[in-house]
Amino acid sequence: MNIQTILTHYSTFEEKTLTNRFFKHEDILPLIHQLPSEFKVEQLGNSVNGKSINAVKWGNGKIKVMLWSQMHGDEATGTMAIFDLFNFLQQENDMATLIKDKCQLLFIPMVNPDGAAVFTRRNAQQIDINRDFLQTATPEGKILKQARNDFEPQFGFNLHDQTTLWSVADSLKPATLSYLAPAFDKALSINQVRENAMQVIADMFAKLDQILPKHIGLFDDEYEPRAFGDNFQAAGTSTILIEAGGYKNDPEKQQIRKYFFASILSGLISIASKSYEKQTTTNYFSIPKNTKQIFHILINNLVLAGVTVSVGINFDECPNADGKSTYKSYSIQDIGDLSFCDAYDVYDADGCQLNGNIIFNKAADFELSNEKQTVLAFKDGYLKT
Ligand SMILES: [Zn+2]
Repeated sequence: MNIQTILTHYSTFEEKTLTNRFFKHEDILPLIHQLPSEFKVEQLGNSVNGKSINAVKWGNGKIKVMLWSQMHGDEATGTMAIFDLFNFLQQENDMATLIKDKCQLLFIPMVNPDGAAVFTRRNAQQIDINRDFLQTATPEGKILKQARNDFEPQFGFNLHDQTTLWSVADSLKPATLSYLAPAFDKALSINQVRENAMQVIADMFAKLDQILPKHIGLFDDEYEPRAFGDNFQAAGTSTILIEAGGYKNDPEKQQIRKYFFASILSGLISIASKSYEKQTTTNYFSIPKNTKQIFHILINNLVLAGVTVSVGINFDECPNADGKSTYKSYSIQDIGDLSFCDAYDVYDADGCQLNGNIIFNKAADFELSNEKQTVLAFKDGYLKT
């Protein structure tokens, strides 16, 4: 069975109670506790606001792999993919059997439940847990650090979401997924630990690029001394970062979670079968890079002050007070020759009438219309049509 075939059966293992990015600790807790006994659940500790952080152990093999998600509370895709994977691993199939025999998996889903509660990146102390490795001022960071020290995994999967504004070099498509083997020093050195992570990623890319062509990029590998991935790599765990980005018409990332699941699964298969050993760092570095060449909205052929220009517009997404929805505020991010860029939505302003002003770095506040109808309208940064 290959990954593509497995995805055609996705509905048989999709965790159907998770339908958008706004699920909470109380939504995943019953899912953890109803897992069959082959999944060993252990409470590792509590978040600042007293929510349990749990580890789920599965598999009888020798190769230890640790997977953790949602260190950033508003980055939910990895958690959804983990619960899809829990369901998949309970099905009768060759891949689940191979992983079970060769690996022991330790999952920590939703490392930051307090952030998830209000849909913010940071924890209840307003600290970015993924910049807290050295100081370890957050209980969540302490728990994660301790879990790695105790389990001593050979491989680690660090599961995140990135901005939807990353694109893939040359393709100009959204970077729906990005991968990285984080650096363990400033010189971006490559030792055996990091090389193994690169080889697994090269293997993952080879599989996923067939399913999701032109939508996968290599994340920037600048060394961040305070981050967990960089430090776990230094501590001897071959760490693989997976970032979920954007995909057209998928704001709740329900398509992206499939590809995220498929990435984790193909990574685990690569580790269990040791197929990564056939990959090279050259293959890893030939994955196209993440670039910033897309906008949320791009308007071409707009006449501003007598010249024809393109206008790039992006939104910032902010959580509403209930933590279960967001609002978007749009601003003008670029004006001029944007012919090397693309966008999720592209408009041609040729023959259109502009009402209002387009001002660089300010909230979008204008209306674009043709003879028949309004094409695009913003009021104080809010999208009206
Ligand atoms: Zn993150």
